[in-house]
Amino acid sequence: MNEKPGLVDKWHKVIEINPPLQFASREGKPEDTIVRVNGIDIGGPEVVVMAGPCAVESEDQLFSTARAVKAGGAKVLRGGAYKPRTSPYSFQGLKEEGLKLLAQARAETGLLVVTEVMDARHLELVCRYADILQIGSRNMQNFTLLEEVGKCRKPLLLKRGMSATLEELLQAAEYVMKGGNREVLLCERGIRTFETSTRNTLDLNAVPMLKRHSHLPVIVDPSHGTGHAWMVPRLARAAVAVGADGLLVEVHCRPEEALSDGPQSLSPDSFGLMMNELRAVAAAVGRC
Ligand code: PEP
Ligand code: MN
Repeated sequence: MNEKPGLVDKWHKVIEINPPLQFASREGKPEDTIVRVNGIDIGGPEVVVMAGPCAVESEDQLFSTARAVKAGGAKVLRGGAYKPRTSPYSFQGLKEEGLKLLAQARAETGLLVVTEVMDARHLELVCRYADILQIGSRNMQNFTLLEEVGKCRKPLLLKRGMSATLEELLQAAEYVMKGGNREVLLCERGIRTFETSTRNTLDLNAVPMLKRHSHLPVIVDPSHGTGHAWMVPRLARAAVAVGADGLLVEVHCRPEEALSDGPQSLSPDSFGLMMNELRAVAAAVGRC
């Protein structure tokens, strides 16, 4: 886990970061950062699973999904209340009503809540309900938003832009950390490539490379990384094997009825099976 950048020479040079990172780099802080949120350690020995629907759709949908992911062993409930959708005619999220449902699901299940903040104008509101903020791929280089989140005292799950290099991801994390918020979780969620059979290409290279250059925890999202529910458990296993500190997984109580990302959402049963399989992989690589 504790990999050092090592000598920067022609063979070992990996990413030359200029200007250098002051807060996000492993050189500046050799030991792994553990982000502790309400008693849950992210970046320690445990692989922390964050699971739930792409979007909060209704009380019934959120609560049945939350109970299922809790039963499977997830520690954090995910769910979008503000959804960045390609088409303005697609479901845009329940907004504050969605945030309230997330807070109610937290009260019932004890799960922490991670949810996306799309706009600095909503930050105060989202902070009132979320345990962990999420900045999505489309906003990874929204520098105003990064700076505002830098002033918050809430951990941030920062998703890699779909065409962003690892250096750009680290520089985006640096924006947040420079502002004073040192609790950033880096998230690999797949990048755009020429391949069309999957929604994105999950770049598992990112895990060892980010961990080599940064002390921050690394989370993998195999749902957006593949776009296919049947692939998710396989890529989740690979992510744990390669050293991910956590997973972000879409689960829906009835994937076929989902208002967004149904095809990549696991059913509660397949989530439970995946979690059982992951225990063995985690143990094999010295994690739990
Ligand atoms: C999401 O997590 O639902 C999401 C919108 O992800 P991304 O920003 O990676 O596309
Ligand atoms: Mn989604």
